Amino acid sequence: MKLIGAHVSAAGGVFKSPKNAHDIGAKGFALFTKNQKRWEAKPLTESDISKFKSEMKKYGFSAKDVLPHDSYLINLGNADPEKREKSLAAFIDELERVEQLGLIYLNAHPGSHLKEISEEQCIQYIAEGINKALSATKTAVVVLENTAGQGTNIGYKFEHLGAIINLVEDKNRIAVCIDTCHAFVAGYDLRTKEAYEQTMAQFEEHVGFKYLKGMHLNDSKGEFGSKKDRHHSLGAGFIGIDAFKFLMNDERIDDIPMVLETVDPSIWGKEIELLYSLID
Ligand code: ZN
Ligand code: MN
Ligand code: MN
Repeated sequence: MKLIGAHVSAAGGVFKSPKNAHDIGAKGFALFTKNQKRWEAKPLTESDISKFKSEMKKYGFSAKDVLPHDSYLINLGNADPEKREKSLAAFIDELERVEQLGLIYLNAHPGSHLKEISEEQCIQYIAEGINKALSATKTAVVVLENTAGQGTNIGYKFEHLGAIINLVEDKNRIAVCIDTCHAFVAGYDLRTKEAYEQTMAQFEEHVGFKYLKGMHLNDSKGEFGSKKDRHHSLGAGFIGIDAFKFLMNDERIDDIPMVLETVDPSIWGKEIELLYSLID
């Protein structure tokens, strides 16, 4: 089954998110468990946690349907040891929040080399950080997202994700998420059936579908290969609707949250309906 949804608001408390997802007809969703633009966050209270769990049950969501996203500030690949340590502490806090909420996954961008170190060294630091964070927590699974290749971000090649996975000790607690906009602007074409299959074959070769635990469904305001991370509503950008039809009918991508991060939240309900209508 396809679990289509969106990155919904958790304003007013994490426990607001299951209803926000339900209201747009979502079968899966993403959220931030804290303000994504700040380092500090108040701990989740017992009341937040129990309300979140009961709302999850009320609207029929299970843990694997939810893909929380971590803070944009975290960079496990930072060359500066102090900054790396600060990121690690924040990353562990994010994983702990996931565990407290009874969830499984934490969606994270791999990290950035900031032109201070090589991509290889950055990948090494990222994997070290993940290993430390997994040792410090119990069950949460890190879901690395492919990136657009904007700036100095690691993760714009499937090879980067594969290299990090290779260095992570507990393979049961590492996974990946493909963002269609990021893939497209990074040079992975999805516009024709042939191109789609070629991209997915590269994904299988360098990462593997067994690690795929989430998708971000976004069209792109940036052109193919532009490395510009600018999402667009489905069918309105340079990717076009065919790619989403291929995805909706790809049996390798089932029972994982497929999350819209498109630019107009007021049409998410319609976009979800559209995606379901693409299934043959
Ligand atoms: Zn992301
Ligand atoms: Mn994304
Ligand atoms: Mn993006």
